[in-house]
Amino acid sequence: MQSTLGEILKRVKERNYHDETVFFQAVEEVIRSIKPLLDNDPRYEQNGILDRLLTPDRIVTFKVVWLDDHNKVQVNKGYRVQFNNALGPYKGGLRFHPTVNVGVLKFLAFEQIFKNSLTGLIIGGAKGGSDFDPKGKSDFEVMKFCAAFMTELHKYIGPRVDVPAGDIGVGAREIGYLFGEYKKITSSYEGVLTGKPFMFGGSLMRPEATGYGVVYFVQALLEMEHKESLEGKICTVSGAGNVAIHTIEKLQHIGAIPVSCSDSQGTLYDSRGIDLALLKEIKLTKRGALTDYLKTHANAQFIPTRDYPEGGHAVWSIPCYAAFPCATQNELSLVDAKMLVKNKTVLVAEGANMPSTTEAVLFLQKHGVSFAPAKAANAGGVAVSEFEMSQNASLQRWSFEKVDAKLKETMTQLCKRVVLTAKDYGVEGNYVDGANIAGFKRVADAMIAEGF
Ligand code: NDP
Repeated sequence: MQSTLGEILKRVKERNYHDETVFFQAVEEVIRSIKPLLDNDPRYEQNGILDRLLTPDRIVTFKVVWLDDHNKVQVNKGYRVQFNNALGPYKGGLRFHPTVNVGVLKFLAFEQIFKNSLTGLIIGGAKGGSDFDPKGKSDFEVMKFCAAFMTELHKYIGPRVDVPAGDIGVGAREIGYLFGEYKKITSSYEGVLTGKPFMFGGSLMRPEATGYGVVYFVQALLEMEHKESLEGKICTVSGAGNVAIHTIEKLQHIGAIPVSCSDSQGTLYDSRGIDLALLKEIKLTKRGALTDYLKTHANAQFIPTRDYPEGGHAVWSIPCYAAFPCATQNELSLVDAKMLVKNKTVLVAEGANMPSTTEAVLFLQKHGVSFAPAKAANAGGVAVSEFEMSQNASLQRWSFEKVDAKLKETMTQLCKRVVLTAKDYGVEGNYVDGANIAGFKRVADAMIAEGF
């Protein structure tokens, strides 16, 4: 059927939509945090560090043309934002989701610079992706899209240049197809993508890394700052993808009781604790709907997104000791923050990237909730990606136990760095400032040492 003029114009407008609000939000937070550092050290001003750091090294935009199962040609937009490589090769995930645009990827790549810096590893910051939606597509369509995407992307990446990984909509299946195409084009086996399936060079524990890392970070934080543990504590988790599922899994390992998860359709609440095997079967194996959970557990509740009052999210109305937003940006609003404070939540740890709005963060901090920001708490994913790069470069394979121990150590050290930096700069207990200052300082000092 022919598209109408109105439909064509709508598509063009959507495809060229440009909104940098989330990028500005991320920048504002960092600048607010590092002001004391800038005020006390004139080198940053003299070397133009802020202006240099706020401008991406380059943004590549390209067209992705592929053939769907009805033999119709489809067109999507592809991007790679290479923001800063002062500390090492560009590193950051690829997101396939209809909401992807330059503004979203600039925000994610900017955050990635500081996150990667905080890990103490040798990696710079980048992010990429496409407005392609893998949902509802056949495996064959996803494969054809990934091949077309890599036809362009391969020109800009390399094991010592830029090493992408997964993110929303990009899991082991997509990484496998992307890697296969890269090899076909270049005829070389290189660790150019991380998050690969284990059988051809992926690291053990990469799928679990971000979720497990969040819990390791929180364990370290609670021990250092509250002399507390998560054992026996009710926890709420949002999202039902890679990060959420593995956060739930590690919480269960350590004896906490995660009682929720969510997706774009709504929130699932099971007061007896989430049945993880069932959730994995629904979401990872069958790529199904959360409501399927109720067929096995009739006592659980599903609250559709549309039934919850505007501005808030049902998942944050469930009383809990600790809350773990693990779905997407700005999913925890001021309304939600007020609810968490009312319910006496002790800690919020961000598994997703910037899931809390600025107003929500300030409100939680003002009311004494320990707030662990994404760039610190969810750095476990990129840390294990770097372990995958090391394994690939040396053609070695590390055991699950070795990767897990290194991940735990990385998150514990990262937590100490954040807590102590906050203390050193007179903002004790403010882990947002601690993370921003520590992350910024390492990158900025490297930029000065390398010249402009
Ligand atoms: P997945 O694609 O595996 O899962 C995303 C989950 O979030 C899905 O359950 C999805 O539901 C839900 N979701 C997405 N958009 C919305 C929305 N607008 N409202 C409600 N729910 C939504 O992605 P990941 O788990 O990998 O990533 C989740 C977050 O973690 C992202 O912010 C990502 O950037 C961040 N992150 C991921 C890392 C990783 O290693 N994968 C590393 C560090 C950070 P639905 O299926 O219905 O869309």
